[in-house]
This record gives sequence, C-alpha cells and structure tokens, in this order.
Amino acid sequence: MATIRCTVDNCFYWAKNNYCGADSILVTSDRAANRYPEGVDAPQASVIAQDIGQTPANSCEDTACKTFRQKDG
Ligand code: SF4
Repeated sequence: MATIRCTVDNCFYWAKNNYCGADSILVTSDRAANRYPEGVDAPQASVIAQDIGQTPANSCEDTACKTFRQKDG
C-alpha cells in the first residue's frame, strides 16, 4: 500500500507530520470531481471509483483528493 503524504492539515484524515491517515482515498480529475460535488468519504472511495471509471488528466493541477473532509471545529 502506498504511503500518502498530504499537507492539507485541516482535513479530518490528516495526520501529524503530513501523512494521510485514511484507509483509502479517491483522487480523480477536476473534471470528474465536478460531477460529484459531495466529498467521497474513505469507506465509499472504492464504490465511487468504480462508478467514475478512468479520468485522464493533463497535469497534476487537474487532479485532487475527493476524500477531503473538513475537520470539525
Ligand atoms: S483524505 Fe485527502 S485531503 Fe485528507 S489527509 Fe488524506 S490525502 Fe489529504
């Protein structure tokens, strides 16, 4: 399994020293993400990934984590 480093420290899944603590995450192209305005929580990532299918991107700026969830408080 990959180790995911993430600097988005206001995410619920963010862990100390810039690690992602989620069991799984969904990364997709911005274009596909716009079709799914809601965040995709870690337990649902596999299901939604199947639904979305393949979404090529032209650059890293065209991709994002859909599992981001704002930390409470
Ligand atoms: S779920 Fe996404 S935004 Fe949140 S810590 Fe993990 S990689 Fe970062």
